[in-house]
Amino acid sequence: MSEPLVIVGNGMAAARLCEELAQRALGRYAIALIGEEPRLAYNRVLLSSVLAGEVSAGDIALKTASWWKDRGVTLCYGAGVTAADMAARRVILADGRQLSFVKLVFATGSRAIRLPIAGAALHGVLTFRDMGDVAAMSQAAGRGARAVVIGGGLLGIEAAYGIAKAGAAVTLLHLMDRLMERQLDARAAALLRGALEAKGIEVILEAATSHFVGDDHVEAVALKDGRTIAADLAVVAVGITPNAEIAKAAGLAVKRGIIVDDHLATTTSDVFAIGECAEHRGICYGLVEPANEQARVLAERLAGHDACYRGSVNATNLKVSGVNVFSAGDFLGGPGTEDIVFSDQGLGCYRKLVVADGRLAGAVLYGDTTDALWYLDLIRSGAAIEDIRDDLIFGRALAKRQAA
Ligand SMILES: Cc1cc2nc3c(=O)[nH]c(=O)nc-3n(C[C@H](O)[C@H](O)[C@H](O)COP(=O)(O)OP(=O)(O)OC[C@H]3O[C@@H](n4cnc5c(N)ncnc54)[C@H](O)[C@@H]3O)c2cc1C
Repeated sequence: MSEPLVIVGNGMAAARLCEELAQRALGRYAIALIGEEPRLAYNRVLLSSVLAGEVSAGDIALKTASWWKDRGVTLCYGAGVTAADMAARRVILADGRQLSFVKLVFATGSRAIRLPIAGAALHGVLTFRDMGDVAAMSQAAGRGARAVVIGGGLLGIEAAYGIAKAGAAVTLLHLMDRLMERQLDARAAALLRGALEAKGIEVILEAATSHFVGDDHVEAVALKDGRTIAADLAVVAVGITPNAEIAKAAGLAVKRGIIVDDHLATTTSDVFAIGECAEHRGICYGLVEPANEQARVLAERLAGHDACYRGSVNATNLKVSGVNVFSAGDFLGGPGTEDIVFSDQGLGCYRKLVVADGRLAGAVLYGDTTDALWYLDLIRSGAAIEDIRDDLIFGRALAKRQAA
């Protein structure tokens, strides 16, 4: 008989886990997938493209309804899990239903951080995490609207771009002295700022938000230096926090996320966590590739095979049309590392590679990102680059010729 396996969360990690399990152990588990959002799992990464009007909301479902049905997965979406009882081995849903499990997987992702400042609950102050947020932004961001986006990381920039494309006048505020400081060095960040300004987005750096102004609806964003920026819409994109409260209340060890070991096992037997809600070796990843890798390893283990997850290399691509930006690994370097830099202002092209112990440790590419995956493979594999080092900065074609 199939073992009852309950997966809490119907997002990207959960969908990948079901796919990987179907390939390895179809029928071994009776899977119930519980999702808070009232829809089939979708590709969250593409929400930025939906906001920018480049793909439609209907196009980003990860699987069709029949795909799930054909693999025997019971979908319960539109009602989240409110509690998990580890002793009774069951979860309780918001609509009162209870489901028993033998094995349980938390794949609850993260939520957007809200600023704890005055006016944060005003109408028109939004975040950027799910399909509902995109619908609200699209509705508010028509021609002539004034929008302020708070946060110059990947999500904030993609929100600013999408809203500007819809016709709104956008101001992007960032607390730090450069955009995407977790992914880009100062040079690449300056180029990115120029490209966004060329698209009509006003960028204000070192801007600390004080509060939102308005009675019922947001009217402006006030900065700590006294400036006020008029806004019909404000989007807060200042970071994410893992959804780990239910796991914590159920007695699992939680720091920032749900603590897992190299087998994705939590501190309670037969209970696992993957994706953004999991904390592995002190890291909560905020990207989809680590979630996919974790899902694959967990599927292997649930299928009875041996597998280990040892961590992931962070890699990011910005999804702003005409602005190609890629960053991976240790892109800043430090003592004991060497930088290889190529810059051509005329071509709008900049590359920085960080080499440590004869291996590629990190890369930032701006302008031409065609070799991004090749660099990423080199970083991930830790391959020696001695034979190709002289031409490494010029990309795959030249470096390969050198090695031949
Ligand atoms: C706009 C945007 C753009 C992004 N772009 C990129 C990108 O370019 N590259 C990249 O690598 N990553 C990107 N990401 C991040 C990527 O989407 C996430 O890393 C990925 O979705 C993580 O998968 P997950 O399954 O852990 O979480 P999610 O996909 O968030 O899924 C978690 C699901 O669990 C549900 N849930 C939470 N609590 C409960 C509960 N109690 N009961 C039931 N269900 C619950 C949530 O509603 C959600 O549907 C982007 C994210 C956003 C928002």
